[in-house]
Amino acid sequence: MEKVILVLNAGSSSLKFSLFALPAAGEMRPLAVGQVEGLGTAPRLKAKDGQGEVIADTRWSTAEVANPAQALQEIIGLLRSRFQENELAGVGHRVVHGGPDYSAPLLISAEALEKLDTFVPLAPLHQPHNLAAIRAVQQARPELAQVACFDTAFHRTQSMIADLYGLPYEYYERGIRRYGFHGLSYEYIAATLPAVAPEIANGRVVVAHLGSGASMCAIHNGRSVGSSMGFTALDGLMMGTRPGNMDPGIVLYLLQQEGMSAKQIEDLLYKRSGLLGLSGIGNDMRVLEASDSPRARLAIDLFTYRIARELGGLAAVLGGLDALVFTAGIGENSARIRQLVCEKARWLGVELDEAANDQNGSRISSADSRVSVWVVPTNEELMIARHTRKLLGL
Ligand code: ADP
Repeated sequence: MEKVILVLNAGSSSLKFSLFALPAAGEMRPLAVGQVEGLGTAPRLKAKDGQGEVIADTRWSTAEVANPAQALQEIIGLLRSRFQENELAGVGHRVVHGGPDYSAPLLISAEALEKLDTFVPLAPLHQPHNLAAIRAVQQARPELAQVACFDTAFHRTQSMIADLYGLPYEYYERGIRRYGFHGLSYEYIAATLPAVAPEIANGRVVVAHLGSGASMCAIHNGRSVGSSMGFTALDGLMMGTRPGNMDPGIVLYLLQQEGMSAKQIEDLLYKRSGLLGLSGIGNDMRVLEASDSPRARLAIDLFTYRIARELGGLAAVLGGLDALVFTAGIGENSARIRQLVCEKARWLGVELDEAANDQNGSRISSADSRVSVWVVPTNEELMIARHTRKLLGL
């Protein structure tokens, strides 16, 4: 029986999965990819096989599939019926927070899970869902080995200076520090550069992960030295529904002068700001690009302005810049956003090759550009599968 690894990424209303085969040689490839979405509202399982053929599209009432544990049962049921020839050998999870110490993936044990529970206050909107998925697997298949892969781990190579806030020192000791996120994406890019762009793999590189969440990371010699996200995933760039970096005095003002509750401010900062809040139209970049609305234009202008500004800051952290890499949904697909960013980065020595940019890469800078610019698709699921395979010795 050929062994397979299941990768799970649990969110507030969805459970995404990928099933990877483990060939003796060569890269792992997905046998199936899908998700249960709409948990709590309109649950629906959608899945495709490795060739992109639909293998499931099922809807339920909220009573039938009410929680991640039931969603997992449906996923396991589907995979069991479709892949009877395969033996599930382990499960890898995306876990948002590994706290100050975890700089590598972790084999799940009762003790490890207890430790991960202590990080829930650091990421209350995400960590509980990640841990619920681990517990759901324990319940459904107690014999299965599970691995937690952290979004913060790749950034643990950063210096203490990069981690610190200018608060009294005891706050740092209490865990209020810059953790950074999207680490699995940056780790995948860093691991991919030696093959796709060997000339920059050991250089000073800024990677822009521009998806519905967006951040940037300064990488030197394949290691993270700085990132735009900090204590939470609210910091740094403006995003689909989050404002990014802002004066903390605004939060005090909203609390004290406008009488908003902490819950209302949380909702404003996580769900109603960013591209959505500014444009008044939506958070999908494709929709904003197609719109004539002046506020859609304003949202795009601020989005790219903030990226260019952060790029300058991270280039300073690196002491210069050899390459800029775009990745994730917007970074991989939007020639317009890349062009607007690169125009604002000409002072750093960026010269775009417009034809290559229009074709989405992979090298999109002109031959004489001092800083080379690349489009490199990310693959966080494959990164998790690789970690899981390695840690479990499969
Ligand atoms: P996440 O995994 O964080 O949900 P993705 O990396 O899939 O996000 O990115 C989602 C974003 O990518 C959305 O804002 C979407 O509008 C944008 N996107 C996808 N394709 C395109 C495209 N062709 N042009 C512009 N934006 C795109």
